[in-house]
Amino acid sequence: MLELDHIYKDYIQGKLVVPVLKDVTLHVEEGEYVAIMGPSGSGKTTLMNIIGCLDTPTSGSCRLNGSDLLHHKDKEMSRVRNRSIGFVFQSFNLLPRQSALDNVSLPLLYAGVSRKERKERAALALAKVGLEDRMDFKPTQLSGGQKQRVAIARAMVTKPSILLADEPTGALDTASGLQVMDLFEQLNAEGMTVIMITHDSEIAAHAKRTVHIRDGILSSECREEGLA
Ligand code: ATP
Repeated sequence: MLELDHIYKDYIQGKLVVPVLKDVTLHVEEGEYVAIMGPSGSGKTTLMNIIGCLDTPTSGSCRLNGSDLLHHKDKEMSRVRNRSIGFVFQSFNLLPRQSALDNVSLPLLYAGVSRKERKERAALALAKVGLEDRMDFKPTQLSGGQKQRVAIARAMVTKPSILLADEPTGALDTASGLQVMDLFEQLNAEGMTVIMITHDSEIAAHAKRTVHIRDGILSSECREEGLA
């Protein structure tokens, strides 16, 4: 499903070349639940941006569902991104003045879905995350955990191939974080491919496979089955 091979990413700062990802190879199969774990500054967000087609590597190859991402033009990249990837961020990134229902509907609006269908699908997505009674609430009227569940409903409403989450529990208390992890496990059990970035080993333990990144080098793939 996702094949990153020999990815290098350098940032240019003035005359300085800052190498951030160094020969990263990562393959994720359909239906997997993978945690990418590493300390601050190790390159997790840089890697997530490449997986999520938000940025391109300096070199290497990157295929998603058989499609070579690096030979796409920007417009095609955003089409692949919108069609294939649902994003969840640490800070929820909800529109503060819009209701939960309107926040979840938004990706469908961009996809050209009719108003009636948008409402139906957004309501179903919110029900799936247990927020059928909060559809008309605005983000300020929701708890952190509820906001993150709205964000997950928004990520899922377009039926993406991959749910890509960057520190999804980073802004949550332990109980709300565990609810989000339960939801990810449920979505994965239903077949969704989940890739989660975290610096927290307890959170990473919810995934079925953890890969570690340190100083831009991906290492020590440990499978739950003990194939480490
Ligand atoms: P954190 O957990 O703190 O968010 P991270 O593992 O996500 O860290 P990245 O944000 O990917 O790490 O950053 C990796 C390295 O790349 C850091 O040393 C950072 O300073 C550098 N970096 C990130 N973005 C840029 C940029 N646009 N220009 C130059 N250097 C950058």
